[in-house]
Amino acid sequence: MKMLPTVISNLFSKPATRNYPFFVRDNFEKTRGELVNDIERCIFCGSCSRKCPSQCLTVSKEGTVGTWKLEFFACIGCGVCVDSCPVSCLSQKTSHRPVAVVRDVITLTGKLPEKPAKKTEKAPAQ
Ligand code: SF4
Ligand code: SF4
Repeated sequence: MKMLPTVISNLFSKPATRNYPFFVRDNFEKTRGELVNDIERCIFCGSCSRKCPSQCLTVSKEGTVGTWKLEFFACIGCGVCVDSCPVSCLSQKTSHRPVAVVRDVITLTGKLPEKPAKKTEKAPAQ
């Protein structure tokens, strides 16, 4: 009997939930959403991949080409990779990636930065 007022009020009030996906709630201002890599600026150092707690990032190098892979189904959106990137080429949108039914991996490739020239020994002064 104690619950009766609550039951009656719930019968005549609006539902507390939304009919997703027809009504989608707006994201919060600081939502950590979709991870984006500006691959032109990436130096393929691998820092993001080493720090990622869910191990969903892979960085590899072959010849002059670097590859950055994100298994986005495993990404928890923590933002650790964004904070650890030395060139700030990673960012997160304030919206989430659209719903997908196929488990996929995002693969981006770019040119590796040129290595600094090796130091040459100074010629002895004459
Ligand atoms: S930390 Fe930044 S620069 Fe390094 S591999 Fe990751 S995205 Fe590229
Ligand atoms: S946001 Fe977190 S879980 Fe997702 S790739 Fe970056 S470090 Fe990994």
